[in-house]
Amino acid sequence: MSAAARTGTLLSVVVPVYDEQDALPAFAARLRPVLDGLGVRYEVLAVDDGSTDGTAGLLRALAADWPELRTVRLRRNSGHQAALTAGLERAVGDYVASIDADLQDPPEKLAEMLALARRDGLDVVYGVRADRSSDTAFKRGTADAYYRLVRRLVGRHVPAGAGDFRLLSREAVEALRALPDQPRVYRLLVPWLGFPSGEVRYVREERVAGSTKYPLAKMVRLALDGVTGFSAAPLRLATWLGAAAFLTCLLLLAFCLAAYLSGAAVPGWTSLFAAVLFVGGVQLVCVGLLGEYVARIHAAVQCRPAYFVAEDTGRRAEPGDGRA
Ligand code: UDP
Ligand code: MG
Repeated sequence: MSAAARTGTLLSVVVPVYDEQDALPAFAARLRPVLDGLGVRYEVLAVDDGSTDGTAGLLRALAADWPELRTVRLRRNSGHQAALTAGLERAVGDYVASIDADLQDPPEKLAEMLALARRDGLDVVYGVRADRSSDTAFKRGTADAYYRLVRRLVGRHVPAGAGDFRLLSREAVEALRALPDQPRVYRLLVPWLGFPSGEVRYVREERVAGSTKYPLAKMVRLALDGVTGFSAAPLRLATWLGAAAFLTCLLLLAFCLAAYLSGAAVPGWTSLFAAVLFVGGVQLVCVGLLGEYVARIHAAVQCRPAYFVAEDTGRRAEPGDGRA
């Protein structure tokens, strides 16, 4: 279908890209025919999240004969969620989809998502992983535990197995943009908004090339940002942990006192040492939890942009660009 024949709805596809030179050619080759065949106008917003490999050059080369491809290059690596923010803030579509650049999210499902959203008048369509066998057992296990935890903390409406492959209506995008939250965890923020939503199930494929850009430390960061952004329950947990440790100490003291009064010798070193370590450990965990929330307040007070734009092929970058 020629560009002129496509009228009406405009679809924006946001693609965060970080050091994906090996995956990009295959990704573009699979995404483009899907989008060309949708029968709607579209734009692809590739957000280059400070790549240091050949990604920037590849994107330039792809854009040379793909007019719908717009590249937003961030000055340095700002993280997957910040890259998504940069894309969502610039996308102009009636619907805005986000998809990974490594072909783990099948581009063909975009057609299904758009059709479902238009047919049922939905504002959010989640891509839900029906089969994660391509992920490592460790990733599946930690993801399952995490979704169980956030469904307890944030609410039942967080779809288990939904990552950042989704479609949003313009209204949902505007609602997200209006939120001051920093750092953002979209997979929790989106369900929290409470828009009418649907699901498209898909099989999580193997990464087409390259390696994951989500090492354990980044996964833990995302998990902590998500939990602290939505729930004060861990702080209450600290209170309960403290109370439990205090009670245990009282009981132990009572036991030791009773033993002493009954004339029994109380051999003390091991239990004393264990008690000191236990209380110390509980205290450190509580201080750590508190620290997570203080860090969030710190970030909110600083009000720094989540990212800086070095180049935008659709528009010239402005200094300090980046706040919703
Ligand atoms: N990504 C990014 N910035 C980062 C890390 C990742 O833009 O700091 C992009 C990455 O290029 C990919 C997507 O986010 O398109 C998801 O990352 P990845 O596939 O490495 O995560 P995984 O699927 O292993 O969880
Ligand atoms: Mg991936």
